[in-house]
Amino acid sequence: MALDGLMSEPLTVERLAEEDWTNPITIRSQIKQARIEIFGRNLSDSAIAYRLKKQRERRTRVCAEPDCRRPIPSLANGRRRYCDFHGSGAARLRRHRHGVAGFKPIRPRRSRRVAD
Ligand SMILES: [Zn+2]
Repeated sequence: MALDGLMSEPLTVERLAEEDWTNPITIRSQIKQARIEIFGRNLSDSAIAYRLKKQRERRTRVCAEPDCRRPIPSLANGRRRYCDFHGSGAARLRRHRHGVAGFKPIRPRRSRRVAD
């Protein structure tokens, strides 16, 4: 067939290393670093495909904290319920200590002073 020679071979780590005048170990570590930066950890090809599929299926989510309309990042885990602001720190501690009441604004402490 006339297409012989025109079809490009699949891109391999070895070929990339050859073209960039470097070694395959460098290319592999750069791929690993890119995966960590994009997905938070060194995921396998099938795990990345699965995450991207789930991400496409998932609709836009917003924070579970009442009166908060901040979106949850689309790359976040499917179980994540709170935005960056309410997912950690003071808001999380408040929910932990006060349960359902943790969703209500905390009233200031009453003064211990006895009326004169
Ligand atoms: Zn929030």
